[in-house]
Amino acid sequence: MIPVNARRRQVPCWQRELAQAIRDPAELLQELALDSALLPIVWPTQFPLRVPRGFVAKMRKGDPDDPLLRQVWPLAAELIPVPGFVTDPVGDQAAQAVPGVLHKYQGRALLIVTGACAVHCRYCFRREFPYAEAQSDLRDWRSALDYLAGDTSIREVILSGGDPLSLSNQRLGTLLAGLQRIPHLVRLRIHSRLPIVLPERVDEGLLALLASTRLQPILVVHANHPREIDAAVRTALQRFRAIGVTLLNQSVLLRGVNDEVERLAELSEALFTAGVLPYYLHLLDRVRGAAHYEVNETEASVIMKALRERLPGYLLPRLVREQPGQLAKTPVWE
Ligand SMILES: *Cc1c(COP(=O)(O)O)cnc(C)c1O
Ligand code: SF4
Repeated sequence: MIPVNARRRQVPCWQRELAQAIRDPAELLQELALDSALLPIVWPTQFPLRVPRGFVAKMRKGDPDDPLLRQVWPLAAELIPVPGFVTDPVGDQAAQAVPGVLHKYQGRALLIVTGACAVHCRYCFRREFPYAEAQSDLRDWRSALDYLAGDTSIREVILSGGDPLSLSNQRLGTLLAGLQRIPHLVRLRIHSRLPIVLPERVDEGLLALLASTRLQPILVVHANHPREIDAAVRTALQRFRAIGVTLLNQSVLLRGVNDEVERLAELSEALFTAGVLPYYLHLLDRVRGAAHYEVNETEASVIMKALRERLPGYLLPRLVREQPGQLAKTPVWE
């Protein structure tokens, strides 16, 4: 009867939010009441600015050093080459079993299901990952599913990217149907920043998928600063909890964002209030363009010691580093 409106209504609300993410640096500065003099003279063309409006709303106006802004704002420092900072810091290329499947650790295989993210985090270790090549075969997931089916030692499949929850529920449903048919798989782990930066993503369709899978679902979200976890995020996470999803968080230790004991303690507390346990605190992967975020191992250990004296053991994330060729994440501190 009303085809035009009907079509519009079919686009889920979260996809509209995603499409409306801020990409124009001048607009972001204006939103935050910041001086346009902060615009860099040279602008990175690869991996451009992208940040959902809901995440921008959590930033402090008028503060160029806001820790949430700092995660997404490309500083001129990105363009300065620093020895040791490379395009593939964790050896992902060498670990591809078939295109889009990383199999580094025993019993777990990681699927790069998309290159798309709702937010572009400047410190992202996959900021230069050649997604186009990795995904060529993933259109129907065939080669990935064949690989998983052929290795009975794999018990857990990890959906990663990019952000796996930037796929539509329909695409995720197709993938899940394929995964469920592989008898030796028992756990489904999703690594996503979307529940934090775009909580609208947690809709009925997604919850129905996770509630109905025979695989045991685990969601590892990615928050770095306590202010990222507001009421909307808590509500979204609560909905996962209500259907029995185990919730964990991983963070990256970032200079100028969360390199303070106080902040990390607040983050752990905020996560627990939202029903999430801290899992990993990663030392920065040394990807090209991210050197200005690095907190070194000595500084990190000092922070962890003080943090341990502040928090119950279950709120202490494990400080780790990813080293190419290793069979697990490497603990940095005890
Ligand atoms: C980090 C990672 C995992 C998961 O490691 P856990 O210690 O189980 O969290 C699995 N596969 C790859 C390729 C990884 O990089
Ligand atoms: S959401 Fe995750 S994968 Fe996407 S840019 Fe940020 S850190 Fe990288």
